[in-house]
Amino acid sequence: MKAMKRMCRVLAALLLAVCLVGAEVSPVLAVTQAEIDQLKSEAKELGSQKKELEAKLEELADDKSKALEKKRLLDQQIDNTSAQIKNVEAQIADYAELITQTEAELTDAEEREVAQYELFCQRVRAMEEGGEVSYWSVLFGASSFTDMLTRLNDVNEVMDADQQVIDDLKALQAEITEKKNQLEDSKAEREAAKTELVSKKSELDKQRQRAIALVNEINDNEQENKETLEALDKEEERILAEALRKSRELAAQQAAQGKSPQSNPGGYIWPVDSRYITSTVGGRQSPGGIGSTNHKGTDIGRVGYTSPIYAAKAGTVIVSQYSSSYGNYVVISHGSGNTTLYGHMSSRKVEVGQYVNQGDVIGITGSTGHSTGPHLHFEITENGVRVNPLSHGAEPQKGYLSGYTLSGSA
Ligand SMILES: [Zn+2]
Repeated sequence: MKAMKRMCRVLAALLLAVCLVGAEVSPVLAVTQAEIDQLKSEAKELGSQKKELEAKLEELADDKSKALEKKRLLDQQIDNTSAQIKNVEAQIADYAELITQTEAELTDAEEREVAQYELFCQRVRAMEEGGEVSYWSVLFGASSFTDMLTRLNDVNEVMDADQQVIDDLKALQAEITEKKNQLEDSKAEREAAKTELVSKKSELDKQRQRAIALVNEINDNEQENKETLEALDKEEERILAEALRKSRELAAQQAAQGKSPQSNPGGYIWPVDSRYITSTVGGRQSPGGIGSTNHKGTDIGRVGYTSPIYAAKAGTVIVSQYSSSYGNYVVISHGSGNTTLYGHMSSRKVEVGQYVNQGDVIGITGSTGHSTGPHLHFEITENGVRVNPLSHGAEPQKGYLSGYTLSGSA
């Protein structure tokens, strides 16, 4: 019984320490396995969409006349993979939270086990003092606590009160084992999700490269893809005409409703944080060179695939959609015939009809549509005609964008 006594003393000391520190309260469950299961079912759905897209791309194969359709599918594929990445990242975050919760629960259960074991020890001491140690002697030879519990099963004359203490202890031990298993499982799942994330990110890189290669191929073979390039050019003209029509319609509607039509005389702010211009209005688009000497907007580079795009001026969103030329693009009306257009976004953050303040985030940069790499294609129309957004010449033009660097000049 000496060994047992010593064990009880050590555990009593431990329990005292725990009591001094104060028992930790189990946190309210913030993440449940059900939430993770929901994410997994969404991931499954994205997976089947991915397969559909792959099958459609397979069908188009090397059909040159279907190049734009192919680019659209590649853009969708990139979108799909990005959504999968977000999903896996959410799973990893949920697992991290679940692991923290389970660890707290485990600590709590272990503390209760210590207390329960102390109770058990107290009973042993009482038995000893009362001289009723008959069955304890059976357990004396136990090599470990677990071994002792096994031996206890063989002792029939264990008294009811003692049995309750022992049962509670066993239940706690089962709970601890279960929590430990849960913890192991969650950690393994989190590791698997991390591995998946790495592979999804490399998949996304490949898809982006493939999309850029396709557009470069169209641009580099101007003669062969004459029809495609002309179709893109016409589409851009159609988009401009449509945007102007909508802008005037909106202004007329507002006037009819007695609202003063948006007159927005103020200037424009930079639609992205970058000030690096890769192509100017009328200049040659770089690299590639579709439309050759008649680029319709201003290209701002060094934006990557994740930069926020801001409304250059307050106004109402009149277009938010995908087109072969501008990819995901948004047009904002700032008054009759005054619009701004933002092209090649990886995602759009606004809907038609929405009013935006100057500086509001309307999308995220990307390379969708007819684009040879991530950049923002930016256009301004005033009084129904495209104007150069960049302040230029000897006198800085008030209200236009300044402080930029032209590609090649630095
Ligand atoms: Zn452009």
